[in-house]
Amino acid sequence: MFQGVPASPGIVVGPVRLLRWEVPDVRHRVIEDDAIPAEIARLHAAMEQAKVRLHQIRARAEQYAGAEEAAIFDAQVLVLDDAELIAEIESTIRQNYAAEKAFDLVMIERRQQFARHPHALLRERVSDLTDVHIRVLTILLGLGDHDPVDVPKGSNAILVTHDLTPSLTVQLDRDAIIGIATDAGTRTSHVAILARSLGLPAVLGLRDATTLLAGAERAVLDGTAGVLAVNPTDLEVEEYRRQARREAEAHAELRQFALAEPITKDGVRITVYANVDLPEEAESAATSGAEGVGLMRTEFLVVGRNVMPDEDEQYRAYARVIQAFGDRPVVIRTFDVGGDKLPSSGFPTEPNPFLGWRAIRMCLDQPDLFKTQLRALLRAGTHGDVRIMLPLIVTVDEVRQARTLMTEAADELTARGVRFRGDLPLGVMIETPAAAVSADSFARDVSFFSIGTNDLVQYTLAVDRGNANLASRFTPLHPSVLRLIHLICDAGLAAGHELSVCGEMASDPLMAFALIGLGLRVLSVAPRSVALVKRVIRSVTAEAAVQAALEALEAPTAAMAEQGLRRRFVAALGGDSFLRGLPGIA
Ligand code: PEP
Ligand code: MG
Repeated sequence: MFQGVPASPGIVVGPVRLLRWEVPDVRHRVIEDDAIPAEIARLHAAMEQAKVRLHQIRARAEQYAGAEEAAIFDAQVLVLDDAELIAEIESTIRQNYAAEKAFDLVMIERRQQFARHPHALLRERVSDLTDVHIRVLTILLGLGDHDPVDVPKGSNAILVTHDLTPSLTVQLDRDAIIGIATDAGTRTSHVAILARSLGLPAVLGLRDATTLLAGAERAVLDGTAGVLAVNPTDLEVEEYRRQARREAEAHAELRQFALAEPITKDGVRITVYANVDLPEEAESAATSGAEGVGLMRTEFLVVGRNVMPDEDEQYRAYARVIQAFGDRPVVIRTFDVGGDKLPSSGFPTEPNPFLGWRAIRMCLDQPDLFKTQLRALLRAGTHGDVRIMLPLIVTVDEVRQARTLMTEAADELTARGVRFRGDLPLGVMIETPAAAVSADSFARDVSFFSIGTNDLVQYTLAVDRGNANLASRFTPLHPSVLRLIHLICDAGLAAGHELSVCGEMASDPLMAFALIGLGLRVLSVAPRSVALVKRVIRSVTAEAAVQAALEALEAPTAAMAEQGLRRRFVAALGGDSFLRGLPGIA
């Protein structure tokens, strides 16, 4: 039984499909002079075989994920066709290295060169090189083919892997894979967010599952409890199935609240928005009961791709979400690329990606890229109530520079004679301690605020949100975080701006209760949690939430804050046995 982080809910039973997508160890092997031609021929055969495989994968990715995503694999074919690279490997073989060793050495060097390259787009090529490195070595060493695309349809397999890179994610065949388990990652890492968007149960942060499993074991994956149970007895499987049925019933029961008005028992109206990560989610999110979109993450249009989507493609993606929501507000965030959301893979290309050249920093430094997105947003703005939000803001200057680029983008559209809306409200994510402490200084430059608690917690507590070893230290109820949120609420209130929380915290019943107590009136949650959060709102009084929050603000530790909140939450729920019975509440 492996205990990990519950990342995407649902219980599934199936065989383990072990995916070890890592560069294998290569032993040094010296060859005789007369074996050199045969080794070179072996290298070419392996590279040819890899190419055939890539063409197959490309065709499948196109079918499951779309043409743009499939294009990742073109770049990998180009690596295999690189004459300079091939010449270098051949020359290493001529120095009496076996083909696999020569290939390994040259690829390691190539990857290091690219990882240090001053140009960001070339640094991103590292992930393609790594994929090719793994694929060709797998063939040269005669190891099994671990591609996730190899899983036959209907196998209902649970994919167990170290970490799921975007290039692997786009290959996933939903008719073959029913759940995801990874050694790395946490609830707020982007694999988790993506798994929830795809509706695939997932458990992350299992640490050593890939080393301890052999593959093909029967397993139960419980994405709600964060458990991967291997070789369960029939009785245990039956118990998990019963639990899955109970969850489905609870979900069905909650659906009644989807369209209910989110108003507390003492009459305080809260607004519940949904977070949308992929345009394909738009229609289902629109029927979740959400009153709008509080955060559309646009970087998933980019992650796993080699080239940025052009203006028209972006326009279509934004318009799809806006149209699905009719006249309800839709907040679209500009590219938050970087950190663990990289264009081609999660491969770190900077020593400190979370403190690095990401999000608004990258956009402001690459005005052409940013203005393409702004033009697409301004055009999409004609379809509804659209608002633009900037991520990872630290200073007011960033907002002002973004606004200047927005004006330029509008002028470019005017020059082209294209229809657009130039007066879209511009808001900021408050997700750095800097922005939190100085939120009041942004008041005149922005129209709204949204607190990104995933990053705010990470930066305040200096705890990497994606590091499984630190998961227990990632505590959104730490008094420092609660005090910062309280401070932001004061600034939002004084400015008269809409203030929401769009981090994962808002989707959790207990934390949603705390946030209402701290003064939040707008929560943006995962579509699946809309009905649940509405039910929580309707079951408590704002007054009880305020008392609970005041107490939590004074607690010395996150654990004590949680204890007090839980006690007050359960009391506030009174006789609501449904909510009291939810996992982690009573
Ligand atoms: C956050 O940081 O809380 C947030 C909502 O943005 P993301 O999770 O995409 O970083
Ligand atoms: Mg963030």
